[in-house]
Amino acid sequence: MQTKLRILTYHRIGFPSKGKKYETLTVLPQRFRAQLKLLQLMNFTHRSLDDVAENFKNKEKFLKKQIVLSFDDGFDDLYEHAFPSLVKMAIPAIIYLVTDRTENTWDRKTALRPLKLLSLDRISEMSRHGIIFGSHTRTHENLTQCTDDQLLNEVVNSKKIIEDMLGLEVKHFCYPFGAVNQRVADTVKQAGYQTACTTKKGSVYLNNNPFMLPRLTIGKRMNLLKFLLRITVRD
Ligand SMILES: [Zn+2]
Repeated sequence: MQTKLRILTYHRIGFPSKGKKYETLTVLPQRFRAQLKLLQLMNFTHRSLDDVAENFKNKEKFLKKQIVLSFDDGFDDLYEHAFPSLVKMAIPAIIYLVTDRTENTWDRKTALRPLKLLSLDRISEMSRHGIIFGSHTRTHENLTQCTDDQLLNEVVNSKKIIEDMLGLEVKHFCYPFGAVNQRVADTVKQAGYQTACTTKKGSVYLNNNPFMLPRLTIGKRMNLLKFLLRITVRD
């Protein structure tokens, strides 16, 4: 049997206010800490996506019980509620940034009030402490609906913006709304990224396309038992 890797998808870690549908993507800080503790107790190893990209390149199989933590959109509350635990436990998580936005204005339908995204200062500090940053485009457009020029701008220039900001190569991409087709995936590959994540549900195997990586979403309603099932059940 092939060994698999699991990439968990988070959005916000924090306290949702009532009446927001968007709170389904918010995990309470105490719940997040309990999840990290459980992963530790179960001897999961946290991988960085940089290392996973190397595995794909060298066709090295994944070792057992490996996990990647990914955070979409770069919400500001990650700084307060996720970053301290990630640093303390030396977890090389990845945060996907939307470079030209300071709030999640693209979620107009689901958020009553737009939420703040991470500032440049905080991103730099987190980067210095080992958090990896990837691109989630410039404006969080559905890329399958973009013209070729728009697509290039979103994919290529967002990479450059983050690289200029951090002085590090940006190797990883995440499709807004999980929207991807062959044209979009090819553009991401040609732009020089090494991996790209979707919202398709599943574990990652070495024979997966590294530009179509499936993930496992961790939502607000997930208690520790449901979390345990999500990270252990076969799929
Ligand atoms: Zn997003």
